[in-house]
Amino acid sequence: MIPPIASNFVAGEDPETALEHVQELNEEGVKGILNLLGEHYHERPPADADADAYVALVEAIGESGVDACVSVKPSQIGLDVGDEVFEENLARIVDGAADRDVFVWVDMEDHTTTDVTLDAYERLTRETDGMVGVCVQANLKRTADDLERLAPLPGKVRLVKGAYDEPKDIAYKKKSEVDRAYREYLELMFREFEGGIAVGSHDPKMIDHARDLHEEHGTDFEIQMLMGVRESTQFDLADEYEVWQYIPYGSKWFSYFYRRIRERKENALFALRAVVGN
Ligand code: FAD
Repeated sequence: MIPPIASNFVAGEDPETALEHVQELNEEGVKGILNLLGEHYHERPPADADADAYVALVEAIGESGVDACVSVKPSQIGLDVGDEVFEENLARIVDGAADRDVFVWVDMEDHTTTDVTLDAYERLTRETDGMVGVCVQANLKRTADDLERLAPLPGKVRLVKGAYDEPKDIAYKKKSEVDRAYREYLELMFREFEGGIAVGSHDPKMIDHARDLHEEHGTDFEIQMLMGVRESTQFDLADEYEVWQYIPYGSKWFSYFYRRIRERKENALFALRAVVGN
């Protein structure tokens, strides 16, 4: 059972509870991106088991009729076991999802995984005519080239600032540099993409920049934020734009919750307020 202090950031331990959360969000005009918590499996059985769980999840989404998709971490479905295990499991999830018209996102992990993740994305999004999305990170200097490669493909691309501590020869380290890169990559996307732009950020400045670029170029975009972070803003933005909430669930909730609390004092206060009911 997830304690109330964590339940602002994690929807529950099982898919049924997570789908109930999506149902409630959908009523507020926000769509759901479901993520089963888990990463860095070094043996094949747990990676296969989580891939099975995603196949069952996309079936459940299809049957329930909620407005939801899934987002999968490469190391959760076998990347640390071998590239081919990851590719096989991802293809299995995407096949099942495409049969039910459910979209599949691939999260991006550290820079050592970028090439294999983008290659798998490219293959599967072509095969499904755009039913797959991939995340790219503004802190990586290579991202301008990656965006040029991704621009002509069907599918969607989520731009985030980047959650991994990367070496300084390949990554921007200062917040101001990452923010500058985020803006420039957004500009590149609005200039060169025909659609499929996802702004994965809570930063009002980045969201405003995307809104301005949308006004200038007319290209559609969506906004993605995490469960438990700036939720009232998510609901307000949903009046005007397509908004998706990234919703983690599953038994491995503790380390995810702990990361959210460590990264910002606002998150700790928010969690605490929910418990004391203020
Ligand atoms: P920050 O620079 O952290 O914050 C900027 C501003 O946003 C703050 O000044 C504040 O105004 C506002 N803000 C931020 N957090 C809060 C808060 N808790 N409460 C109130 N205001 C706040 N990273 C990856 O590396 N790979 C992924 O696949 C990936 N997927 C993601 C998917 C989604 C949907 C999202 C939202 C993030 C994802 N990330 C991923 C994480 C991302 O890389 C960043 O680490 C994370 O989003 C924090 O950056 P930020 O853009 O929100 O802005």
